[in-house]
Amino acid sequence: MEKFEQTFEAVSETTGEIYNVTFVSDGETVKAQCTCPAGQKLTLCKHVLKCIDEHTDIRYALTQCGLMQIYEEHLLLLKESEKIKREAKSVKKKFERLLLR
Ligand SMILES: [Zn+2]
Repeated sequence: MEKFEQTFEAVSETTGEIYNVTFVSDGETVKAQCTCPAGQKLTLCKHVLKCIDEHTDIRYALTQCGLMQIYEEHLLLLKESEKIKREAKSVKKKFERLLLR
């Protein structure tokens, strides 16, 4: 994996403020940092996710060091949990129909 440092600008949808999202590779792994309040608290913010979404080269680097696979596992589980949530709602509706008068 190649070493790199790339910075992107991300505009806040709510305040219009501009944040900087930086990805740094030391040749073995990739680290991301965003200057927004969430990013400063080391929380995965939507600006970092948006950059991953929009930049193929970043996704490629994340795949090379094994991080993209973890993110994809999260997305898969999220999708499954949404499906289970919908099923739970529909079973609750059925129970309501049968129980309540
Ligand atoms: Zn951010």
